[in-house]
Amino acid sequence: MSDTIERVKCLIIGSGPAGYTAAIYAARANMAPVLYQGEQPGGQLTTTNDVENFPGYPDGITGPEMMIQLQKQAERFGTDVRHGWITKVDFSGPIHKVWVNGEKEIHADTIIISTGASAKYLGLPSEQKYLQLGGGVSACAVCDGFFYRNQETVIVGAGDSACEEAHYLSKLCKKVTMLVRRDEFRASKIMAERVKNTENIEILYNTETEEVLGDGQVVTGVKVRNNVTGDIHEIPATGFFVAIGHKPNTDIFKDYLDLDETGYIINAQPGTSKTNVEGVFVSGDAADHVYRQAITAAGTGCMAALDAERYLAAKDATFEVSTPTYN
Ligand code: NDP
Repeated sequence: MSDTIERVKCLIIGSGPAGYTAAIYAARANMAPVLYQGEQPGGQLTTTNDVENFPGYPDGITGPEMMIQLQKQAERFGTDVRHGWITKVDFSGPIHKVWVNGEKEIHADTIIISTGASAKYLGLPSEQKYLQLGGGVSACAVCDGFFYRNQETVIVGAGDSACEEAHYLSKLCKKVTMLVRRDEFRASKIMAERVKNTENIEILYNTETEEVLGDGQVVTGVKVRNNVTGDIHEIPATGFFVAIGHKPNTDIFKDYLDLDETGYIINAQPGTSKTNVEGVFVSGDAADHVYRQAITAAGTGCMAALDAERYLAAKDATFEVSTPTYN
């Protein structure tokens, strides 16, 4: 075994609200957590502007600022927050092994997975431009719908998420135009019916997005194309919502953890953060395709740290934290 192997009590993978909340609890429980931030420190919230629905911020807070504060809070109690990307894991034995950036090897008694999920986008340059600018492109109606009160919005997608989000937007916006790329919904009948029966939602079938239009700062409309007739036209809108699914960031765990058909980690015991591997816990969007909110991610981060602490207590493990010559 190499001299460079590090042994830790609690390794947290991911730096969204789930990971940092797990870190706050784990650090305060003397578990000396080490947290790897991943490729996008702060996670999905760093692509959001104002967060107005997280309790405790009466005036709202920007997503990036909230993540800086969460990191500071985790560090205040001793969390070792590190840059780095976990490239490989081996959960076959009682000690869980992970590799950072394909090199550094860490052995952990407990692992908390908080790798989140990534919203899928269409990939159009204009969509990405206004997403980066924070100028009217969003993948979360619950997070951002409020900013488009009494305005006109467009939403892409035809699954349950798109229906749910379109319906949510319809209660806030003057008009919602839903772009469905086929001539039918993928969503369950009941969800699709609800959308169809909502007066201020207009559904355009066989319709795809050509371009998100804007003034260089904010979205002003959407150019769409009917893929049957070839007809192209523009729809005025200040918000462009994309609801075409999420991809959980769980690929590296697939050889060891039970995942559902879309890749979400399955809780081995509902109501806990336990996975099918003892000592490996999951929090946040990596296991949640239903709620996907910062506050629910934070809540499950807390659960994961408490479950990890109880697991260690039950094992009555003795630890040597960060011992460089561990063998
Ligand atoms: P889905 O994969 O079910 O649906 C994705 C939708 O996006 C499809 O209609 C698909 O079109 C469309 N789409 C994909 N790519 C593009 C593209 N490039 N351009 C235009 N449209 C595109 O994802 P969801 O997030 O809706 O749902 C994920 C899972 O979560 C499902 O199992 C769903 O049932 C569940 N869920 C349940 C809810 C509930 O019960 N309350 C709420 C939300 C989700 P096409 O149909 O043509 O492939």
